[in-house]
Amino acid sequence: MNPVFATLPTTVFETMSRLARAHSAINLGQGFPDDPGPADIRQHGARALVDGWNQYPPMMGLPALREAVAAHYAAHQGLTLDPETEVMVTSGATEALAGALLALIEPGDEVVLFAPLYDAYLPLVRRAGGVPRIVTLTPPAFRLDEAALTAAFSDRTKVVVLNNPLNPSATLFGHDDLALLAKFCCRFDVTALCDEVWEHVVFDGTRHVPLMALPGMRERTVKIGSAGKIFSLTGWKVGFVMADARLMQGLAKAHQFLTFTTPPNLQEAVAYGLAKPPDWFDAMRAGYACSRDRLADGLRALGFPVLPAQATWFLNIDIAGLGLGEDLAFCEALVTRHGVAAIPVSAFYPDASVRTLVRLCFAKADATLDAALDRMSGLA
Ligand code: PMP
Ligand code: GLN
Repeated sequence: MNPVFATLPTTVFETMSRLARAHSAINLGQGFPDDPGPADIRQHGARALVDGWNQYPPMMGLPALREAVAAHYAAHQGLTLDPETEVMVTSGATEALAGALLALIEPGDEVVLFAPLYDAYLPLVRRAGGVPRIVTLTPPAFRLDEAALTAAFSDRTKVVVLNNPLNPSATLFGHDDLALLAKFCCRFDVTALCDEVWEHVVFDGTRHVPLMALPGMRERTVKIGSAGKIFSLTGWKVGFVMADARLMQGLAKAHQFLTFTTPPNLQEAVAYGLAKPPDWFDAMRAGYACSRDRLADGLRALGFPVLPAQATWFLNIDIAGLGLGEDLAFCEALVTRHGVAAIPVSAFYPDASVRTLVRLCFAKADATLDAALDRMSGLA
C-alpha cells in the first residue's frame, strides 16, 4: 500500500460515530443535522428518481445545475461564472478537493495549509506528491498573520488550501484576512484552493466573502461548495467546483477518472434548491443560531468555557484547567461513560499542539441538545 495511506488512522468522524453507535450515545461528534432536511427538496429528488432520467448525466454536471450554481453565486456573492466553462458538479466537496489537489500539484510542489485542518487535506496533499507547509492558527482567535505567511510561502509554493468558514474552529475569515492571503498568492503566483462548504452557515449578521472575489484572485482561485451543507443533506454528496476555464480543464481531467458523474436525480433537486429566495437562507441561519445559543448557554451554565462560534454547525469548549485531561481522553470518556460523542480538536492539528479543545455539533433538535447537556452535567 502507498505509505501515505498505510500509516493513516481511520478518520476521527467515523471512529467517533462508531463509538457513539456502540455506546448508544448522543452523537454531537460527526457534523450532521438530525433533521430530515427540506421536504420540498427531498420530494423533488424523489420525483426525479422515480420519473426522471437515471442514466449517466453529462460529465461536468447537469446543465440545469451548473446554471443554477452560477445564478446562485451571482445572487449571493456577486460572482460572475460561466456555467459552461467555469462550473463543475462533483460527488461532494471531498471529491472536488481530491481532484483539485491531484490536478494542481506536481510531486515536490509545496502546499500551504492552515491548522486546524480538515482531516482530508493532508493525506490528499501527500498522496498527490505535495510537500505540506503548515501554518498553525491558535485559539481563541485563529487569525492569519503576516509573519507566519512570510515564513510559509516561497517560490516553491504552488497551492494554498483555505477553509473558510473554518471547521472545526467555527471562525469566519473576513476581508482583512483574505486580503492578506491574496497578497501572498499574487506575490508568489499561487493557486488558492478554497473550501467554502460552510459559506451559508454564518451567524450574527456576518456575510461570507469568497476569496475569489478579491482583486487578483479570480484567475487563481478554485472555489468549492457543497449542497450537503447548504441544504443540511450531508448524505447527498453533491458538490460544485468553480474556477477560471483554464484551471477547470485540469480539474475536469481529474474528475473524469474519480467519479465521472454524480446522481442526476440529486443534481436536479439541488438545482431546484439553489434557486430558493434569500429569506430561506436567512431562516436556515437563524434556526442554527438558536441551536448554537442553546448549546453554548447550557454548556456555560455547566461550567465549560465556550469559544465564540461565528459559523458552521460546531462550537468548541476549552477543557484546559478543568482537570479533565486532554481532549482525546476526555472525548473517549464522554462517549463511553457519559453517552455523548464529541470530536477532539487535536485531530485537526498534525503536531497535536492544541489538545484541550472539544468540538460539539449543535445541528440537532432542542430535545437532543438538552439531553446531551443533561448527560454532561456535573463533569466540569
Ligand atoms: N470540507 C469541510 C471543511 C467539511 O467540513 C466537509 C464535511 N463537513 C467537507 C469538506 C466534505 O463535504 P462533502 O460531504 O460535500 O464531501
Ligand atoms: N465534515 C464533517 C465534520 O466535520 C464530517 C465529514 C465526514 O464524516 N467525513 O464533522
